[in-house]
Amino acid sequence: MRELRKPAALPGVGTLLNQPAYVRLRESYPHGLVADAVREQLALERESGVAGEADREAAVAARLAAWTAPRLRRVINGTGVVLHTNLGRAPLSRAAAEAAARAAAGYGNVELELETGRRGERSAVLADLLRRLTSAPAALVVNNNAAGTLLALTALARGREVIVSRGQLVEIGGSFRMPDVMRLSGARMVEVGTTNRTRLGDYEDAITSRTAALLRVHTSNYRITGFTEAVSLEELSKLARARDLPLIDDLGSGALDPIADEPTVGESLHLADLVLFSGDKLLGGPQCGIVLGRAELVRKMSRHPLARALRIDKMTMAALETTLRERLLGRPVPVQTMLAATSEELRRRAAFWMVKLADRGVGSGLLEADSAAGGGSLPERGLRTWLLALDGPASRLATALRRGDPPVLARIEADRCCIDPRTVLRGEDETLVDCLEAAAALTRR
Ligand SMILES: *Cc1c(COP(=O)(O)O)cnc(C)c1O
Repeated sequence: MRELRKPAALPGVGTLLNQPAYVRLRESYPHGLVADAVREQLALERESGVAGEADREAAVAARLAAWTAPRLRRVINGTGVVLHTNLGRAPLSRAAAEAAARAAAGYGNVELELETGRRGERSAVLADLLRRLTSAPAALVVNNNAAGTLLALTALARGREVIVSRGQLVEIGGSFRMPDVMRLSGARMVEVGTTNRTRLGDYEDAITSRTAALLRVHTSNYRITGFTEAVSLEELSKLARARDLPLIDDLGSGALDPIADEPTVGESLHLADLVLFSGDKLLGGPQCGIVLGRAELVRKMSRHPLARALRIDKMTMAALETTLRERLLGRPVPVQTMLAATSEELRRRAAFWMVKLADRGVGSGLLEADSAAGGGSLPERGLRTWLLALDGPASRLATALRRGDPPVLARIEADRCCIDPRTVLRGEDETLVDCLEAAAALTRR
């Protein structure tokens, strides 16, 4: 048995806390936190059998600094993936970010009609803008598209059947799997067709008195190619209408304007009864799930008890409202600007960095490549770009950049550590060049 013994050299926590160095720390940190840090330090010394008197104070201070340091950091996205889910998808416009900050720091008419003084609906202001922007009859906004899908299936199809093609049972980013969402909603999923081929007759044959809806899921992050057959939204729409069933379209990325071969919200609204998509993909707003469609379906969803659990907060409301007004006014939001950047503009920007780095003795070159939209949108769309490719060991450079301040996320292309200018925001150039220089210096040692 190990002997649990406090070495004679170790002082007690209370004694230490009254020494001047620790009294000083207590001016910056709450007493309890300093006590925890001291206790942890003493435990460590006891464990190792080494009394670290000399470095003890510095170690306690470092521990306190680490405990209270910000975890969520602003990073520079050099990957070229515009809607990078791990990096928070769409960066907001300055106006939308400011609106969110204003809403966060004060009170607002979140659920209050200022005109009448009556209690209002959280989605009301947003619904009005969404209707104007898309000509949808009704709208609801929830926490994200997964929530929108769950709420739609629960409110409209719980205990009944929903028909979906086997070619559309998607997984988005590891945790959103259509069969799981379906199970959770209490709707029974009726799969039709095969992975690569589904015909209209497959849907027709599956419709029974238990059918609550037809579901189309946009295969936003992959394509099935080769020997394939799929039923168009138009055909599904005709069938749904003939059989008096709602057609739900999980659109995912939600393109308002035509971009590559993405289905647009307008087309989808024209054919489906309910259209669902994310607010932080091609719309370029905050994380949320946008639900558009027929008024009685949207009402059923907004009155369902689950809606309360999936509702958005006031910061999201403010950011989305501003994003929607910008879209309505035709002012490009950052996602649109990034997707629209031409290869020539990007080459000039990368070249500018290259010259700056050369001035500081850091070697690099330019490499033509593709950016990606990401976030489960436009999987095959080639967005031509020019990368800044750093000289030196690629993976060590990428690690140094990721651990830098601010962290920079690079991508490895052709065995080189590269930065794609498409996703480096305006105003980040100087900081980026500093970070690249620092990482290059680190890996040269
Ligand atoms: C992205 C996506 C989702 C998930 O949306 P979240 O807003 O991340 O919840 C669901 N369905 C499709 C088709 C998608 O593309």
